[in-house]
Amino acid sequence: MQRHLLRRLFSSSSPFAPQKRARSGLAAVSEAVESAAVLPNMPPFGYSPPPYDGPRAAEILRKRSEFLSPSMFYLYKKPLNIVDGKMQYLYDEDGRRYLDAFGGIATVCCGHCHPEVIEAIINQTKRLQHSTILYLNNAIADFAEALAGKMPGDLKVVFFTNSGTEANELAMMIARLYTGCHDIISLRNAYHGNAAGTMGATAQCNWKFNVVQSGVHHALNPDQYRGVFGSDGEKYAKDVEEIINYGTSGNVAGFISEAIQGVGGILELAPGYLPAVYKTIKKAGGLCIADEVQAGFARTGSHFWGFEAHGVVPDIVTMAKGIGNGIPIGAVVTTPEIAQVLTRRSYFNTFGGNPVCTAGAHAVLKVIEKEKLQENALIVGSYLKNRLGALQEKHEIIGDVRGRGLMLGVEFVTDRQQKTPAKAEIVHVMEQMKDMGVLVGKGGFHGNVFRITPPLCFTKEDADFLTDVMDIALSKL
Ligand code: PMP
Repeated sequence: MQRHLLRRLFSSSSPFAPQKRARSGLAAVSEAVESAAVLPNMPPFGYSPPPYDGPRAAEILRKRSEFLSPSMFYLYKKPLNIVDGKMQYLYDEDGRRYLDAFGGIATVCCGHCHPEVIEAIINQTKRLQHSTILYLNNAIADFAEALAGKMPGDLKVVFFTNSGTEANELAMMIARLYTGCHDIISLRNAYHGNAAGTMGATAQCNWKFNVVQSGVHHALNPDQYRGVFGSDGEKYAKDVEEIINYGTSGNVAGFISEAIQGVGGILELAPGYLPAVYKTIKKAGGLCIADEVQAGFARTGSHFWGFEAHGVVPDIVTMAKGIGNGIPIGAVVTTPEIAQVLTRRSYFNTFGGNPVCTAGAHAVLKVIEKEKLQENALIVGSYLKNRLGALQEKHEIIGDVRGRGLMLGVEFVTDRQQKTPAKAEIVHVMEQMKDMGVLVGKGGFHGNVFRITPPLCFTKEDADFLTDVMDIALSKL
């Protein structure tokens, strides 16, 4: 066996190092050496996780199958047991390092390690963890003030929740109460949450059905790649007008959408769409809700909030995920006038925005600003998008590269003309990339889009590694 290959295989920049436990003998090593012959170097990273002596993947999988929801799914044929994380890297049970280019929309790191966030959480936990309601607490008020400071216009009142689902449920309820109407318009291919109302507004996937809700209408998706009107946002917007004219009594409670659909496959709404729709909704007396659960908190690089790129100001903004970098917290921000509707109801959320979560989320916001992560998302995201664009020129199977900042999508098709979804191929490429140390997400209506949404500390070297690995996986197809 060639010495240089072995050296490279177990060097600190190889995803095969450090191994806390030997992989399964000769077969694993020769398989690894075969890949190492073409394996690009993962950027060096001076950290080794502590040894892991807990249950192995097979045992966890068995328990999960027996005791957890059967609707849970796994990304890989052999699900990974991830036991450690540091910045943009994850480590499995053998201490093998992976570049996390999906990360659950964590902002400052993979969601586990930033010292300033950890310190804020620990300090607040030591001092007091309690419910959000009942008493005064500075952590909650301070974070609400800081969050309101990031908002345009009169969006100054914050309701904290525990998740994105709760935030969207609350936003839709506020819209219904404020307008006295029931009808909500959302987009086809949208995802807004997992409770009854939000699953009604969700219209994602052709392989599973949403939960039907009365009074929810799904409008034509202003999808620039597959949509009938290409990038002409105003033409798609006419569908919303028609829904209001013919599908409702002429009034609506509201319209909810993301600026870039995340689960939907990183679809950036066609330019001109949101301004036209917001005008139509306002005219019909409804409220415009921007779901910033994925695109918010600096991810798009050019702006702090996704909707800002479209030049609109919503009536209600919802957020989660990146707000807390993994801490369970969400929020709804609206105007003082609209917020008043809940004073006529008994509305409270026991733990939404509790002192520990708000202290942690406030630290996240400070880190985003201090470490200029929005700027990083713009610079590294543009670089990565260019490199992915170059891959598209080389590999026929890449039909589209899209997105903004560190919210990027790569759509796979077997035929560029017909745009036939390359469903099996994408699964294969994803497995290969995992084997070479890169984790990406998958989504879109047909499940044929790579979702690349890494933590915002992602570097250009990481972007190079990801593209080199994808190039190799695609070349082997
Ligand atoms: N809105 C969007 C755009 C989302 O992507 C998600 C989660 N994927 C949600 C809402 C729901 O958030 P949660 O899972 O925190 O309830």
